[in-house]
Amino acid sequence: MITTIERGGDKKSLDRVVVVGGGLSGLAVASRLQQSGRELGRPVEVIVLEAKDRVGGVIATDHRDGFTLERGPDSFITNKPWALDLCRRLDLDGRLIEAQSAHRRSFVVRKGKLAAAPEGFVLMAPHRIAPVLASPILSPWGKLRLLAELLIPRREAATEESLAAFARRRLGREAFDRLVQPLVGGVYTGDPNNLSLRATLPQFLEMEKQHGGLIRAAFRHRKEAEARIETESSGARYGMFVSLEEGMGSLPKALAASLDKGTVRTNSPVRRISRSATGSGWLVEPLDGPSIEADAIVAATEAHATARLIDGCDPSLALQLRAIPYASSIIVNVAYRRDQIKHPLDGFGFVVPAIENRRIFAASFLNVKFPSRAPEGTALIRVFVGGAAQPELFDLDDEVVRQVVATELGELIGVSGEPLFLEIARHARSMPQYVLGHMELVESIRRKAAMHSNLFLTGVAYDGVGIPDCIRAAEATADAVLDRLADPGSIAAA
Ligand SMILES: Cc1cc2nc3c(=O)[nH]c(=O)nc-3n(C[C@H](O)[C@H](O)[C@H](O)COP(=O)(O)OP(=O)(O)OC[C@H]3O[C@@H](n4cnc5c(N)ncnc54)[C@H](O)[C@@H]3O)c2cc1C
Repeated sequence: MITTIERGGDKKSLDRVVVVGGGLSGLAVASRLQQSGRELGRPVEVIVLEAKDRVGGVIATDHRDGFTLERGPDSFITNKPWALDLCRRLDLDGRLIEAQSAHRRSFVVRKGKLAAAPEGFVLMAPHRIAPVLASPILSPWGKLRLLAELLIPRREAATEESLAAFARRRLGREAFDRLVQPLVGGVYTGDPNNLSLRATLPQFLEMEKQHGGLIRAAFRHRKEAEARIETESSGARYGMFVSLEEGMGSLPKALAASLDKGTVRTNSPVRRISRSATGSGWLVEPLDGPSIEADAIVAATEAHATARLIDGCDPSLALQLRAIPYASSIIVNVAYRRDQIKHPLDGFGFVVPAIENRRIFAASFLNVKFPSRAPEGTALIRVFVGGAAQPELFDLDDEVVRQVVATELGELIGVSGEPLFLEIARHARSMPQYVLGHMELVESIRRKAAMHSNLFLTGVAYDGVGIPDCIRAAEATADAVLDRLADPGSIAAA
């Protein structure tokens, strides 16, 4: 147990946990540590060190002229419970807003025009056949090949398959190029040729294993879902996507505000971590200021940032952390008067297949999804540029990005004239890519990290990229820290 604190030299008797990174993951770890520590009668001192001048990491909301601008994520899914549960614990449930049910569909660009994605087509699985047959997105041959999925045998080989290989094998090349690639690429800002199906969307692998195919499984799931809806008559139910009235940025803000006073230190980049000379603990070295001793460390930073922290004390762990590739992307929030746009904007937005050779990969019509995001008579559009498939576009300078957005939106949805405003948010190396071999790599990283007592890694790099998954992983990490501090002989589970 640490008995001195270098900052100020005051005496402490509690175990001290330093969390590096004040994104959603780091804050969720801190919150669980404080809350569970108290509940278990083993309170801990928690310090969160965040490099930037604000908490939240990639999650950030700006407000301007009556618009709510999401610079990062704009919503989260509710079929995984952890984010909703956290909102409830933070008393934010009254602030949750559901994506509109009107216009709940997206478009896919085909030959320069927007066509509605077939109703019921969920990433890779057609839950309804008639809309696929009626869709202008696939040719007659592409539709026939997609239906032939019913005849494609289960794959028996145990080797890992990429998302693209799986989708092409089951649904055909055209359905992959025209539907799966843009829909999945939009979620992961990734290239499905490299993404591991098992690490990103294991439910589709399971559908093939259990039911022999995606169409069969989708029909079975639909029937079960319909039966559930008929039997469940009460309880708060939310649509698939929700956000918060004041914007997604209010989630990390509320989380930080719920922590004990003085827990979070912004503008505190950590240079490195090392074993403390005085015992079994750790020494955290900020870029400026005195080092901080800790009984346990949680690195809730991007894998490449964690690699820099750990380089000095375990270069081979650092090397493995660097092997998790990251994609960079730009989110442009652009506002127009409604009468500047010809398209009826009767959907949540559109995705762009790579074979269309355009310079944006998706756009969402934010105030169609969440009407309170923009004043009457205007439209707020979020445009996505770059990602793993077009990394070179991330380096375009702001003026070129403006031109790209104006040209692409002009051609695709008939936008004309100057925008009311346009804001560019760059996310450099912020979306980990779960490529083939990701799960084995993470296993190996965990084994190596476990060799350092009281070092814990969490965050978006490892076990799921969405907000609910990050919260689940962060809370499991906090539980493992508390177990370890209570029983120093135990093996880390996180
Ligand atoms: C562009 C984009 C859009 C997304 N959209 C959605 C969406 O709509 N819905 C959804 O569910 N998920 C979305 N995600 C995923 C979601 O953002 C993540 O699941 C989650 O926010 C990741 O949180 P994190 O804390 O793990 O990482 P981050 O947010 O990356 O936080 C890491 C933090 O560590 C800090 N840090 C790094 N190095 C140091 C250091 N040396 N010292 C101190 N601090 C350091 C960083 O400054 C940062 O604040 C999106 C991701 C991106 C990139």
